[in-house]
Amino acid sequence: MTDKKTDKTKRAPRATGTNRYVPEFSDACIHSAVSDKECHFLMLFERLISAMTDIDNIDIEHIENLLIEICSMFRLSKAVTRVYKNQQEEQEGAGETLCCFDTGKEGNEILTLRTVTSVMSRTTITTYMAPEEEPLTEEERSKVELVMRTVLSFVSRNRMRDIVYELAYYDEAGYPNLRNWREYLDDVVKNKRTANKLAFRYNLRHFSLINDEFGRSAGDVIMLDHYNKLKEIIGEDGMLARLGGDNFLGMCSVDKTKIVIDYLTETEAKAPKGMVVNISTNAGFFRIPSDHEVRADEIMGSIINAYRIAQTGGMDNIVFYDEEFLEKKEKSMRVQQYFPEAFERNEFIPFYQPKVNVVNGSLVGAEALCRWFHAGKIIPPAEFIPVLEQTSEICRLDFHMLECVCRDMKRWSDEGRKLIRISINFSRKHIYNAYLPETIAEIVDRYDLPHELIEIEFTESTSEVEFSDLKRMATELSNMGFSISIDDFGIGYSSLNLIKDIPWDTLKIDKSFLPDGYSKDNDMSNIMFRHVVSMTNQLGMECITEGVETIEHVNTLRSNGCDIAQGYYFDRPLPVADFEDRIAKGKYEIESQSEI
Ligand code: C2E
Ligand code: CA
Ligand code: CA
Repeated sequence: MTDKKTDKTKRAPRATGTNRYVPEFSDACIHSAVSDKECHFLMLFERLISAMTDIDNIDIEHIENLLIEICSMFRLSKAVTRVYKNQQEEQEGAGETLCCFDTGKEGNEILTLRTVTSVMSRTTITTYMAPEEEPLTEEERSKVELVMRTVLSFVSRNRMRDIVYELAYYDEAGYPNLRNWREYLDDVVKNKRTANKLAFRYNLRHFSLINDEFGRSAGDVIMLDHYNKLKEIIGEDGMLARLGGDNFLGMCSVDKTKIVIDYLTETEAKAPKGMVVNISTNAGFFRIPSDHEVRADEIMGSIINAYRIAQTGGMDNIVFYDEEFLEKKEKSMRVQQYFPEAFERNEFIPFYQPKVNVVNGSLVGAEALCRWFHAGKIIPPAEFIPVLEQTSEICRLDFHMLECVCRDMKRWSDEGRKLIRISINFSRKHIYNAYLPETIAEIVDRYDLPHELIEIEFTESTSEVEFSDLKRMATELSNMGFSISIDDFGIGYSSLNLIKDIPWDTLKIDKSFLPDGYSKDNDMSNIMFRHVVSMTNQLGMECITEGVETIEHVNTLRSNGCDIAQGYYFDRPLPVADFEDRIAKGKYEIESQSEI
């Protein structure tokens, strides 16, 4: 008889029956006139009960030997136990079969007993006897029944223990759960096995989209495939548990770092019907130091901290909790701390980067980009925008930038300068603000500026939920006469629906999408660029390419029909006074294509 939970236990000391409950059948042999056979049975049965009730020292081999002896006494050919986790398993006959005794001889069923436990598991035991054997007497039959009832309750009790264990340590889908993880982590820490270990916490990105597209049960299959592959990579010397939903916790040896990171960055998982989906994750990692002891809560704190940044901090989906992380965190705390005061002191001002028509060199517009003047230094947006995006402070900043731009434009208008369209970046954080269009209109109207001279740049949305909000907001702004543009097209979560379903005026192709200007016409980057430009033109949208740094870039735009460029080739983002000079000039000299 094999048993998942008990077969690892050591051989128990033989029961002596003196200090535990043991029915004293064998005493009867001494005091009364019972046959030797009867006496032998009572002795075996007494030992069987004793072995089965000694919960902490279950000795399966000993129990098996006793059963073999008892079954042989009663001329049985076989005794089979079947265990079902629930009613459905029993109906389908899909349970687990344990053989208590088997002579290999065919036999007729002579007795079946069945029990249902409080957690709805079912156990049956069936005994068989070969036809040529002398049938059981009434008395023998009642003894067999007594023995089999004892075995039945023993098996079902043990199975119930397994089920309770499973319920406590595995979730409803069969993944090891948080309790399982905690015990593993505590054990690793307690036994000083943390050296050279890597701990991590991750979340599957856009998994709700996968569920929506393939259906929930296919989503389950995909998730399990993803889990199983990673579990195999981690191997025996590690752990992978599910925190709930599409969130996981893991630990493995540090020599697996690269392969685990590669896997979590992006990998394929099998979907039903032979399909394959790409899965990427947001993950926080912590390499547990070997030179000093680390507590379990420190390990958890580190991976959760790193994970939070991976989830909210811009483009980095994989974040390590290390020196660099702590430095960044320190910087980010300083930004959060200084921001309110700096904001009041007007330290945030717009620089203007010109947008130029590459066909005739005329200045057609500009993008306002925020600069922070702090303690005599200029802090670039990369150092504070992602931090402010973690809170809603970015929204205050964007409205402030719009206000600054409107103030500048109003002054230009009063000074009789030509007004050109200026774009302002609006963070995705605004998406949840239902009053955004009204607030923008209120600011622009206060300066009495035509709406079409203000362009709002939005980056691509990251999820379906954001998409519907983005659509509502962009459409409202467009109806109010503002220009709206998709920023950074080509990176992130690109979707053609995003272009089709929203009335964009402009599509801004990200610099990473711009071919270097030297590659051949049939090079992949050229083909993709050409098609995006042509699609934009055919949809009647204006097309701008960012990051135009060289004349080769300019010519790539010209030969592919993208008329407008923004980039260092013309100008970097400029302080307002310099930009005013450019407005006055209104034109750039560009080498004509034939001169090259
Ligand atoms: P973005 O909206 O994609 O802005 C373009 C970025 O590309 C700017 O970086 C610009 O200086 C840079 N750039 C322009 N031409 C070239 C070029 O030829 N080569 C290269 N390598 N880079 C070029 P910047 O000013 O550092 O801004 C970075 C990002 O910060 C912006 O990216 C935008 O996402 C964000 N940002 C800046 N100002 C604001 C703001 O007021 N509000 C919000 N929400 N985000 C802002
Ligand atoms: Ca932009
Ligand atoms: Ca951009």
